Amino acid sequence: MICGDRHPDAILRLLRQPDAGRNSVSPIGAALPIFHGMSQAAIPVSVNRSLAGRRDQMYPTLTEADMERLRRFAEPISYAAGEHVVRAGDIAPGLVAVLSGHVEIVQDGFGHREIIVTHGPGQFAGELAQLSDRPSLVNAEAIEAIDALVVRSQRLRDLMVQEADLGERIMRALILRRVGLLQSGTAGPIIIGHAGSADVLRLQGFLARNGQPHSVLDADSDSCAMTLVERFHVDPHYLPIVLCPNGKLLRNPGENELARCMGLVRPIDPDKLYDVAIVGAGPAGLAASVYAGSEGLSAIVLDCRAFGGQAGASARIENYLGFPTGISGLALMARAFNQAQKFGVEMVIPDEARLLGGASDAAGDHYTLRVGDDETVRARAVVVASGARYRRLGVENLAQFEGSSVHYWASPIEAKLCGGQEVALVGAGNSAGQAAVYLASQVKKVWLLARGQSLAASMSRYLVDRIAAQKNIEVLTGTDVTALEGHDGNLETLRWRNRAGEEVAHPIRHLFLFIGADPNTDWLAQCGVMLDAKGFVRTGAEMGAGRHPLETNRSGVFAIGDVRSGSIKRVAAAVGEGAQVVAALHAYLAQAGGHAAALQGRI
Ligand SMILES: Cc1cc2nc3c(=O)[nH]c(=O)nc-3n(C[C@H](O)[C@H](O)[C@H](O)COP(=O)(O)OP(=O)(O)OC[C@H]3O[C@@H](n4cnc5c(N)ncnc54)[C@H](O)[C@@H]3O)c2cc1C
Repeated sequence: MICGDRHPDAILRLLRQPDAGRNSVSPIGAALPIFHGMSQAAIPVSVNRSLAGRRDQMYPTLTEADMERLRRFAEPISYAAGEHVVRAGDIAPGLVAVLSGHVEIVQDGFGHREIIVTHGPGQFAGELAQLSDRPSLVNAEAIEAIDALVVRSQRLRDLMVQEADLGERIMRALILRRVGLLQSGTAGPIIIGHAGSADVLRLQGFLARNGQPHSVLDADSDSCAMTLVERFHVDPHYLPIVLCPNGKLLRNPGENELARCMGLVRPIDPDKLYDVAIVGAGPAGLAASVYAGSEGLSAIVLDCRAFGGQAGASARIENYLGFPTGISGLALMARAFNQAQKFGVEMVIPDEARLLGGASDAAGDHYTLRVGDDETVRARAVVVASGARYRRLGVENLAQFEGSSVHYWASPIEAKLCGGQEVALVGAGNSAGQAAVYLASQVKKVWLLARGQSLAASMSRYLVDRIAAQKNIEVLTGTDVTALEGHDGNLETLRWRNRAGEEVAHPIRHLFLFIGADPNTDWLAQCGVMLDAKGFVRTGAEMGAGRHPLETNRSGVFAIGDVRSGSIKRVAAAVGEGAQVVAALHAYLAQAGGHAAALQGRI
């Protein structure tokens, strides 16, 4: 086993080659030099526009009055000159507000050391990771003796709620700092593998969708990557490897293994009784968690992939209230995710709910969720928000090309693979329309294949019009994909049958599928929750006397969003049901004997 305790920085420091770190294939920032602390002239233009102008918000200086307000949530702390406040990969003590002295925030990697920023009196060290006690992505070092105030993560969340104005400024700074790290492309884990391989794309997609800074080095062209592969004696067939910020080296890990190594997933406390467990962190689950958290319920959210659900896959949501210029699904969902964490909601991502059972003990009747391999969540109520998953095409050898040439997601990661090429996209709904429009801006040509006779029957008018106006999208209605041909997982030719019944072969290396979704309810199959004929969860009065419209046949188990039978499959509807279910939860918990927190004597 290669996994050990060696720190990659130490290894990378050996690799002080002039080209170390070049040829990164990271989609985020594409190996931009870290820009913090650079002169304005040195900041890359795109970053300059988006962030450099907000430097004052990113690194605010608090007034004396602000520091007094902050003091209520803080404890004094001191560091000697040269002492580490935190090392990348370790959990920081909290947000550290400097009273005297200076702290340097440092990105150490790729064989060199970059100072991101230096915090002096009135400034604070911290990043989004500190909101939920996750490991730091950067080093913080006292460059001279410092006296400071440390606000630990729970108290930081209290501060944000109780001191709205100060909390808003701190929250904005934490978010902007994370955006800065994402754009720098030099923080977080390093994936080393063959560019475009299915596993590299899988890991890259997982980190990107979870808002985790990372970089990717191409094992075939990057000298730093090649040296590391040689040093670790990794057989190229076993790539990719991942170097985690804590120094661990993983060989082609699963998402859960990677998340655990990065400290994103922590063990679940089997003794804790939550008011509510929410399965799914799409728009419905995140809305429920924000409202539950803000109204004082103890909530835990599980998602087996990433926050954002299907909405996170949307290149641009234009019909969500309040965003007249549209917003990317990932950006909208990241806001909700941070908001839920601000209200103390516990996130377990990625981890899968596998079975819903019931139990009765000293704490009263409650539900148990079997999670992952052997963990258990105990909760007095359960919200099923597990949404839907993409439908697969009924073509024999599809699996052979999935991940590398067949995609269910059209993000900058996939778009980069397809630059300058012709791609095919199958589907006729809004998700297909959005993806086609996005890809058209990134690739040479999009062939949009639809089985029906017109797009208008299933797609919003604004998207139909936009597609018609896009010169490099060719729409073929009445068309079915008949075969995929290629080698070693790489698609070379796509065959389709056109309206006239003729089979056409076209050289296509990337195929995008947006052909609808089936409910994610397999995990409920043996739990006694009633489903409709298509597998969606049934709710409402017909499930039993006195049932809430969002309650299933099992009292205290609710279903919201796309997974619910008869729901409107839209972000706004999912968010609305997420808000609505919290009122139902309050009523249920009150009737069932008080909140878990009350039972445990915490309130
Ligand atoms: C590409 C695309 C573009 C779209 N664009 C728009 C748009 O512009 N406007 C609009 O209104 N709607 C749009 N939609 C539809 C919209 O995204 C959905 O209606 C919405 O996301 C549904 O939210 P949800 O939370 O109910 O479910 P989902 O978004 O499906 O989220 C469910 C979550 O549950 C998780 N999960 C499933 N099973 C388990 C389990 N056993 N354990 C743990 N976690 C589990 C999944 O990983 C997922 O993250 C789009 C959809 C797609 C695919």
